[in-house]
Amino acid sequence: MTAPHAPSWYAETADKTLAFPPLDGDRKAHVAIVGGGYTGLSAALHLAEAGIETVLVEANRIGSGASGRNGGQLHTGQRRDQDWLERRLGRPAAHELWTLAEEAKALVHHLIDKHQIDAEWRPGLIEAVHKRRLVSEERHYVDKLNDDYGYAHAEWIEPDRLAAMIGTDAYFGGRYDATAGHLHPLKFAQGLARAAVMAGASLHEDTPAIRLDDGMKPLLVTSRGSIRADIVILAGNGLLDGIDQETETRAMPIKNFILTTEPIGAGMPGGLIPGGEAVSDSRFVVYYWRPTSDGRILFGGGETYSRSDPADIFAFVRRHLLGIYPGLRDIRIDHAWGGTLAVTVNRLPFLSRLRPGVYAASGYSGQGVALAPYGGKIIADAILGNPGRLDSFAALPCPRFPGGKLLRWPALVAGMSWYALRDRI
Ligand SMILES: Cc1cc2nc3c(=O)[nH]c(=O)nc-3n(C[C@H](O)[C@H](O)[C@H](O)COP(=O)(O)OP(=O)(O)OC[C@H]3O[C@@H](n4cnc5c(N)ncnc54)[C@H](O)[C@@H]3O)c2cc1C
Repeated sequence: MTAPHAPSWYAETADKTLAFPPLDGDRKAHVAIVGGGYTGLSAALHLAEAGIETVLVEANRIGSGASGRNGGQLHTGQRRDQDWLERRLGRPAAHELWTLAEEAKALVHHLIDKHQIDAEWRPGLIEAVHKRRLVSEERHYVDKLNDDYGYAHAEWIEPDRLAAMIGTDAYFGGRYDATAGHLHPLKFAQGLARAAVMAGASLHEDTPAIRLDDGMKPLLVTSRGSIRADIVILAGNGLLDGIDQETETRAMPIKNFILTTEPIGAGMPGGLIPGGEAVSDSRFVVYYWRPTSDGRILFGGGETYSRSDPADIFAFVRRHLLGIYPGLRDIRIDHAWGGTLAVTVNRLPFLSRLRPGVYAASGYSGQGVALAPYGGKIIADAILGNPGRLDSFAALPCPRFPGGKLLRWPALVAGMSWYALRDRI
């Protein structure tokens, strides 16, 4: 009997009956996939739709990783903004990455529509500016998107209007984005899983992969047997302990935490955030929140760079929530949970053909609601003979974390702590 999802508002409100049998014994497949998050599920779906025999193994439950625990925010663009991308990679590459990110966002909508996934999509996302000194930069960025990128869906919002929209005067204005928005991440993952199975993919929960033996045909050894495959896709995000060193030195798992309040009419007329938008702010350790379909505020804030959770996640996140909404002091907190996301050194995703027959995708750095389903699709496309988009991502610089697998933690902690400090000064 597979264990239930870890407690969260998502687990409580998604399909509790959806389950997939473990994979016992040895089998063969054209493609074996490690990881049942958006990347793995989307790859399985697109490969199965093309008639490829595909087997996916998930260590826990489908969507039990970041894909079923995240803030649900569907962002526009890459994790780095277009100014940064232009400076580092040049204008042509920056424009190409913008186009790919727009395709990624469109893919999410396409998947929801095509497979009729009840993902509770709501349009509208505000990037709120938390320091006065960042206002001119953000206003310039709105103009840049409008003028240089032909993106008419971005608009600058003055502080007064923003305060009325989101119910706090903690911000100095913000960028409204009409085609970004938010969804129920676990329902989205479950919808992808159902669609993949309908298309002919085999999905197996409670089946950790424990080793990958390379050879003419890679052998993926699991806790219960093995899969001999022509091609293996490693889609375990930052959680691929011991399976692939190359990915582990380039993508680093970090923890981030979320709570939900009791239902308070949020996202409803007369309630907090009556327009129903998602909000995320300009902090390096970002605060992000949104109303849920049953009128709660779902708020994410605070990260840790160790493997253990804070002793009291409720208190850990509530402190951040009350910094923005002191008026919620007497509101009950009903759920709090953590999740692991993978970041890369430069926050660009690590999408790679590691060696013949082995692909890896990881390190979406907090932008995976859009980019991970897309990562899965473009790996599937590459396997099907269309490597162009994967090649574009694979060509991006993705340095190893200083110190490699063993010493990357201290380096990351030092770096992240510095940026977290900068958020406060
Ligand atoms: C708290 C939190 C909030 C976030 N908020 C947002 C947001 O609002 N917007 C946004 O765009 N992104 C957000 N993200 C990031 C986003 O969720 C991820 O980028 C995305 O879900 C990554 O998808 P994935 O398929 O690559 O990885 P995952 O969803 O993590 O899936 C990987 C799966 O692989 C499995 N696995 C690992 N190792 C093995 C193994 N050896 N054998 C078998 N299975 C294995 C894991 O159990 C897991 O289910 C957030 C992440 C977290 C944790």
